[in-house]
This record gives sequence, structure tokens and C-alpha cells, in this order.
Amino acid sequence: MPHTTPHFSYHDGVLHAESTPLPQVVAEYGTPLYVYSKAALLGNFDAYADACSGRDALVCYAMKANSNLAILDILARRGAGFDIVSGGELLRVLAVGGDPQKVIFSGVGKSVEEMRLALSHDILCFNVESIAELHRLNEVAGSMGKKARISLRVNPNVDPKTHPYIATGLKANKFGVAFDDALDTYRAAAALPHLEVAGIDCHIGSQLLDDAPLLEALDKLIELIDDLALEGIVLHHLDMGGGVGINYGEVGEAPPVPVSDYLGRVFRRIDAWRREKYDGAPIKVIFEPGRSIVGDTGVLLTTVEYLKKGDEKNFCIVDAAMNDLMRPALYQAWMGVQPVQPRSGVSADLYDVVGPVCESGDWLARDRILSAEPGDVLAIMSAGAYGLTMASNYNTRGRAAEIIVDGGTVHLVREREQPVQLFAQEKVIR
Ligand SMILES: *Cc1c(COP(=O)(O)O)cnc(C)c1O
Repeated sequence: MPHTTPHFSYHDGVLHAESTPLPQVVAEYGTPLYVYSKAALLGNFDAYADACSGRDALVCYAMKANSNLAILDILARRGAGFDIVSGGELLRVLAVGGDPQKVIFSGVGKSVEEMRLALSHDILCFNVESIAELHRLNEVAGSMGKKARISLRVNPNVDPKTHPYIATGLKANKFGVAFDDALDTYRAAAALPHLEVAGIDCHIGSQLLDDAPLLEALDKLIELIDDLALEGIVLHHLDMGGGVGINYGEVGEAPPVPVSDYLGRVFRRIDAWRREKYDGAPIKVIFEPGRSIVGDTGVLLTTVEYLKKGDEKNFCIVDAAMNDLMRPALYQAWMGVQPVQPRSGVSADLYDVVGPVCESGDWLARDRILSAEPGDVLAIMSAGAYGLTMASNYNTRGRAAEIIVDGGTVHLVREREQPVQLFAQEKVIR
């Protein structure tokens, strides 16, 4: 059974994005090419927005998953806020007219310059990850005559049961303030004059297919909020982070938790707690989804250059590489591979799908049965998250073009980078 999604499926033997046949976009834009579905994007965002409707809740899209301006613009106009991890990402939000009052700033290494930029635009909240950062932010805000709203990213030490490179909420991870240090850190924050303690957040990992670890983390945040309230430190928001996973189509993978089910459980737990402890006074809830908003909205199209058969392995050498899509090289991530126009009459064989980059780690998929010939186009499925945003120019390869399909209409939203652009800022010395 080929792994397809509602917006990327076969019609008359040809893979389509919505109602657009993919061979048509390849003829126009070439490969490697990222193709996104607008309907898929809106559907994913609306699943969060609908589950939050009528509540004091904010969906801050974690834009490091995919920060193309067209995607940010579509989401901003749908009401999304943004979770940023750099000053550069804030500039992208501003470039599409996004509301800084819906921006939260995460990350362990915020620079003075980034703090200034974010304060000058009055962002909603800084998610602070250490004592040292609290002090720096207090100083920067003071020097600007401002108060910075803060939340502490607490590390609840729950095991998200995901790949170690995308687990972030364990004691051994660099992220957040240890659960046992959280109370003291809040006391320190409350004593700093240029900070306003606003909330609490966590983000325990990514590609979580089950929400049990997320709900376990929620219970730990609730415990802290209650302890803080007893000391007169009242928090106004609770931020669950991101992390909801998607299906990549690997045999045997568990289905992801539906977003509406997960949010429903979060809200039921929170409502019961608020009724029991705070006479039902609500607390604002924030989510920071990345992958579950964009992951299945995109594919990476790549052309087969050569087939190289060997004694131990056969290689299907394609024109996309680890510089275009790093997830397999970085996390040994499994990505689905589908021919855009499946062939009959070519014998199937077992291949590793690899790129032209000079690294043995440059592979996109391993041990796949394919019937392919040079010139055929393959789709790397569910490549909308952590695809182009992680792309590099290694081997002086320009980054791929990106298009958004809206029904039968195709929009180029990022031009293919040309190699001469890559060294335009360099100089020789003689
Ligand atoms: C990356 C990240 C997210 C988004 O994670 P997904 O798994 O893509 O949903 C949310 N919050 C923070 C702090 C992150 O670093």
C-alpha cells in the first residue's frame, strides 16, 4: 500500500498535490522541488484552532519547522501566533505582518541583540531556559525602560519515548530549568524588577505519537503552578509546547494521536483542576505545534540520475541530497518514497536512495523496493516539516525551490537558489 495523504494521492496512476498533477510542476520548476498543499496546511491548523475555539487559548506555530513567508502569511491570516527561536524568525513574522503580541520566544541561547529586537516589538512572552538568561533579560529590559514578560521552560523529566535527538524534556537535555529547581528560579524571577512573571512552559520532545507523556508533563506543570500560587506567584498562562507526531508511512508505526483528542484531554484536565482549586477561574493555554501543522503538507520531488547496482547494495542516485532534506542523515529518520508515475514493465529492485553529496551519511531512504529508471521522479513524502528549514549549501548546492498548490493553482513561493548567489558575499585576498 503506498503511503499517501488526503492531499497527495494518485489519480489515474499519477501522484497529485490536491488537483495538480506533479509531473506538470516538475516540467515547470524542475527538481529538487518542495511542493506544499494549502488545503492540508489549513486543515492541520484548523484542527488546533477548532479545538481551542471559545477558549482563552493561542496556537503559536513553531516556525522553525517551516518558515517560508507564504506559509507564515497563510497561518497569520488564519489567526496563528508564532513560536520563534531567533531574531531572524521574528523578522520573518514582521515581514508578513504577523502580530508580535502573539509571539513567544524560545531557545537556550538568546543574544542581547535578539532580546532587544523582541522587546522593541513587545512580544507576548520570553520562554526563559536558565537563571543566567533571566538576569540578562532583566538587564536588557531595564536598559530599555521596559518589563519583559517571561515564562520558565520547565524540564519535567518525562520520557517522550522518541528518538534521542528529538527528546528535549529529560534531565540529560540542554533545554529548560530542572523541575526541582523551578520554584527557586521562579522566586528569583519574581524578585527581578524588569521582569513580569507571566507563565510556565515545557516542550518535552518531538514526533510523539502518544499523548500520555504530554499529559504527564501537564500534571507536573499543574503541581508547580499550585505551589507558586501558595507563595503569591500567580501564573496567567500554561504553555504545553509542541511535539505531536505525524505518520511517515513506515510499516508498523503507531497512528498519531488526533489533535482534537489530545487538546480535548488537556482542556478537560485543566478545567477540572481550575474548578477544584481556583473556583473555575480560567488560565490561558498556549500550544507550540510545528510538525503537526506542516509535516504532511509537503513532499520533496527528486529526479533519478543513475541506478548503480552492486554486490551488496543497489543505489538509486537522485538529485536531492542531505543538504536538501537532513532528517535521515541527522536522525536516521524514515521517509516514504513514492514514484510520481509508477512504472510497470521495469523490474523492481531493492535500493538505497542516495544523493550526490560526498558523505556516506548522504542518504534519503534505505532498503526500498523501487521500479525506477533514470529520469523518473520520486516523491519523498511528508517532508513539509524540518525539510527546507534545515537545508544547507553543502557542496555549493543551491537550496531547492518551493511551491504551494491551491487546488489546480500553483504558486512559486521560493525561487531555486543559484550557485553564484552562494558565493556572492565572499572575497578573495591577493
Ligand atoms: C521545535 C519546538 C517546537 C515544535 O515541535 P514539533 O515537534 O515540531 O511540534 C515547539 N516548541 C519548542 C520550544 C521547540 O523547540
